[in-house]
Amino acid sequence: MGIVARDGYELTPRAEEAEVLVVNTCSFIEAAQKESIDAILEMAEHKKFGAAKKLIVAGCLVERYREQILEQVPEVDAVVGTGEVERILEAVHGDLRVLPAQPPTFLYHHFTPRVMTTPKHAAYIKIAEGCDHPCTFCIIPELRGKFRSRRFESVVREAENLARAGAREITLIGQDTTSYGEDLGLRDGLAQLLSKLAQIEELLWVRFLYAYPNRVTQKLLDTIAAHPRLAKYIDMPLQHASRKVLARMKRGSNGDAFLRLLEGMRKTIPGVSLRTSFIVGFPGETEKDFQELGDFVVEAKLDWMGVFEYSDVDNAESHALDDKVDAGTISDRRNRLMAVQKKISRENLRLKYRAAKRETLLALVEGLSKENPLVWEARLEGMAPEIDGKLYLTDIELPSGEVAEAGDVARVQITKSDAYDLIGRVVEIRPRPANRANENVSVASAAPVPPAEKLHRIATGAPLRVLG
Ligand code: SF4
Repeated sequence: MGIVARDGYELTPRAEEAEVLVVNTCSFIEAAQKESIDAILEMAEHKKFGAAKKLIVAGCLVERYREQILEQVPEVDAVVGTGEVERILEAVHGDLRVLPAQPPTFLYHHFTPRVMTTPKHAAYIKIAEGCDHPCTFCIIPELRGKFRSRRFESVVREAENLARAGAREITLIGQDTTSYGEDLGLRDGLAQLLSKLAQIEELLWVRFLYAYPNRVTQKLLDTIAAHPRLAKYIDMPLQHASRKVLARMKRGSNGDAFLRLLEGMRKTIPGVSLRTSFIVGFPGETEKDFQELGDFVVEAKLDWMGVFEYSDVDNAESHALDDKVDAGTISDRRNRLMAVQKKISRENLRLKYRAAKRETLLALVEGLSKENPLVWEARLEGMAPEIDGKLYLTDIELPSGEVAEAGDVARVQITKSDAYDLIGRVVEIRPRPANRANENVSVASAAPVPPAEKLHRIATGAPLRVLG
C-alpha cells in the first residue's frame, strides 16, 4: 500500500471504482486459501463488468500456485509473491506478469513506505520474517522463507516514528519473535530490543506475540518484569500438551515442561496474562491424548486460549501422516476444550480484576464499540489487540465534562466481569501528549486510510483495492 501510494496512486476500499485491483492472499490453512480464491473470483467479476483494467494477486497463495493462478483465472494479469512485494509497481504498470519461484527474501525497513491499517494509537511492527522450525502441520517456512530478523536500529527507528505519530501501544510480530536477532549474532535479541523500546516515552505498552516455548529465556522474562512499559503479557502458542502429539508435530516437549515454564513466567512476572493456542484433531490424536490436553488446560489456567481444528494442507508433512481424526470428532473436541476454558476464563477475570473494583487500572481507549454503539471499547495491559477479551466502558465522561477519546490513556474502574470481557467506567483521563504527528515520520499514512470496517477486512486478509 505504501509503495503504490508513494508512486501517486490513490487507495480506495471500493472495488467498483478501482482501476487496479490487488488481492493480497493468505494460504496458511485450507479455509484461508478458500477465502483468498473466492476474493480473486469476486474481483475478476469487476474486471469483466466494472471499471477495473488490471487484477493482481499478491501474497502467500502466489508462493504455492503462481503459474496455476494465471492459468486458471485468465482475468489475473500478474502475480506477486511474498518475496516480491517491492516489485508491485512493475505489476501495476504492466511490466511484470510472473517471476520464477525463489525462496522469499524480502524484509521491510523503517524507510519502506507503509500505510497504517490500524488506528494510529495501536500499531504492529514486524521484527522478523520467515521461520526455521519444522512443525509438520505448517507450510509457513515454505511460504515466507527462512527466518531473518530486521536490523535492530531499523525496528527502533520505526517504533520511535510511530510513537511520534500517535502510537500508544506497539505490538511486535513475526512468525517466531523469540528467535529475534539470532541471525544477526545477537544474544537475547528480543530482550535487548524490548529494553530499548521500553525507553520510548510516548508509549504506554510494548508487547510481542508468538513466543516459541523453548526460546523463552529467563533474561526475556526478567526484562519484561523490569520495565513498566513492557506489557505483562505473553502469547505462547503451545499447540498441544501430549508428548506423543507434540512429537508428531515435530515441536517436542510435553505438558509437564510447559507447566513448569508457565510457573516460571508467573513467578518472574507477577500478574502476567498468558495466552496460547492449540490444535485439536492432529493425525493420531486419541481420546486419551485429548484428555491429556484437557487436563493441562485445567491445570494451566491460562487467561486466553484459541483452539484450531486441524485440517490437511497440501505440502505439509502432516498431510501424509496416518490415523486421521474425522471432522465431527475434531469439531466436538474443539467445542469441549473451549467449554473448559470458558469456565477458567470467567473465574480468572473475576479473581484477577476483583481488586480493581476498588482500585483503578490503566486502559487504552479504542473507540466506539462495533457491536454495541452505546458502549466504548478499551483494553487493559493483559489484553492484546483483536484477539483477547475487551473492556467495555459504559461511562466515558468525567464529572468535569471531559470525555475520553479513541487513543486516550485512562484510569478505569472495573464494575463487572463475564466469561471473556470486563465492564468498567472511566475515572480519569491522562493528559494527551502534544501532537507530534508530522515530525520526521517515515511510516505514517502516505495515502488516505479507508474506513474502519474496510480496514478490518484488509487486516484479515481480504482484498485491498488500488485505484490508479
Ligand atoms: S513455529 Fe510457527 S511458523 Fe514456524 S513452522 Fe512452527 S507453526 Fe509454523
